[in-house]
Amino acid sequence: MTHPTILWHRRDLRLSDLPMLTAARENGAVIPVFIRERKVDALGTAAAWRMGLSVAAHGKALEEIGSRLILRSGNALEVLCELIRETGAGAVYWSREYDPVSRERDSEVKAALRDEGIEARSFPGKLLWEPWQVKTQSGEPYKVYSPMWKSMKDTSPGEECPRPRSLNAPVSWPESEALGDWALGAAMDRGAAVVKPYAVVGEKAAHARLATFARERVDDYKAARDMLAQAATSGLSENLTYGEISPRQCWNAVPDSGEGAVHFRKELAWREFAWQLGYHFPRIFESEWREEWAAFPWKSDARAAEIWAWKKGCTGLDVVDAAMRELYVTGTMHNRARMLVASYLTKHMMTDWRIGMAWFADTLIDWDEASNAMGWQWVAGCGPDAAPYFRVFNPETQADKFDPKASYRCRWLPQGDSPSDTALSYYEAIPRHWGLEPGQDRPAKPIVGLQEGREAALTAYQDRAF
Ligand SMILES: Cc1cc2nc3c(=O)[nH]c(=O)nc-3n(C[C@H](O)[C@H](O)[C@H](O)COP(=O)(O)OP(=O)(O)OC[C@H]3O[C@@H](n4cnc5c(N)ncnc54)[C@H](O)[C@@H]3O)c2cc1C
Repeated sequence: MTHPTILWHRRDLRLSDLPMLTAARENGAVIPVFIRERKVDALGTAAAWRMGLSVAAHGKALEEIGSRLILRSGNALEVLCELIRETGAGAVYWSREYDPVSRERDSEVKAALRDEGIEARSFPGKLLWEPWQVKTQSGEPYKVYSPMWKSMKDTSPGEECPRPRSLNAPVSWPESEALGDWALGAAMDRGAAVVKPYAVVGEKAAHARLATFARERVDDYKAARDMLAQAATSGLSENLTYGEISPRQCWNAVPDSGEGAVHFRKELAWREFAWQLGYHFPRIFESEWREEWAAFPWKSDARAAEIWAWKKGCTGLDVVDAAMRELYVTGTMHNRARMLVASYLTKHMMTDWRIGMAWFADTLIDWDEASNAMGWQWVAGCGPDAAPYFRVFNPETQADKFDPKASYRCRWLPQGDSPSDTALSYYEAIPRHWGLEPGQDRPAKPIVGLQEGREAALTAYQDRAF
């Protein structure tokens, strides 16, 4: 009899296009496992809650094909060794993660298991191409997006792995902890009920979402993707981040030509860019990509009250406040809006980009470590291939352009005598102790005026003579 293979799921909660699963099935019985270890415990509030939904959905999908998802908590290596002892497993397979903490953990696990004579193998699946495959002609990692996109746009990420109809079960299943006992995202408190209808959870739902996008939206994607009130984008970041769908499935679902389809792939390539930067230059996760920025005189301490107002969507700037409330109610935010709120925080308010990055990490259900770090550094001006610091977005002119009928602002801000339900739902989501009341919580004037903020930021920037 062959020994079962442990399939260690992390951020790859799907059955289709999963190379580690295809390989594991060839060995015989498979034991899918999810471990609540330190990376899971370190998740932000909304991301932890959403991860819990994804784990539940994946467990159900496995049951439908005669398998199970075994849940354990603790140090990953110790848990895996325990499971090996209990089940007689001969191999542990996982899909690669590329952030520094996961890489260190995985190298340790691989070495220790191999020392014990256990087959320990890692597989692709998170990205279109492995970070070490994406190289300039001189063999260096890309630091600029456009040439990287040029090099990948006409290549194929290859055939997808099939979805299994069944999985061989082990002779006996090991014990599993109960997901409910983990209370993932318990800190969401009453916000969870408000956010839940917006979450599109699990592999099946992700594929339905992709199909709708490919059928109904992709043709207009390039023209409409910046319009704040329009559902013109795929929404798939939420699914990609938990691995409920693979980037290859997204890439392959749209045609090779056509403005919209090509632009969609271009956006998928931004995700690749973020992760290959994170892999080759892990400092991007915590310090300025452009080192000369380390000494920039952020005013974060002096601006504590304003930063709190920004988080609560109470800056007095309509589009910024609408976006921050969209974030709190839905757990996501339109890409254009992410750029606007990040620009106001880092430029007009001269706040350290890490403060914004951390707030997004706590509140986004599509939190992706690399895209978030790259996005914040890009907007702040200190990141790779970033917009120059002197290019300061004006939120009002941006709103005129991308929300010409103010529909987005009406959706998220209580205005007039009959505010929209979506705007009012913000007050159901936030903690009561914030003490906010519709119509009385936003200042009449922006907390930092647009002209004044812009000039102060540019002066600080020029004084440092970057
Ligand atoms: C300050 C800031 C923070 C961000 N934080 C995150 C984050 O935590 N998680 C996250 O997934 N994205 C983040 N982004 C990128 C982007 O805003 C989202 O990926 C996008 O809004 C997701 O919507 P969608 O799935 O409808 O995208 P679509 O427009 O349908 O694009 C398809 C896919 O391409 C990828 N993509 C699109 N734009 C970008 C981008 N600028 N950078 C990297 N990948 C991209 C995403 O995986 C997305 O699902 C951030 C951007 C900024 C400016």
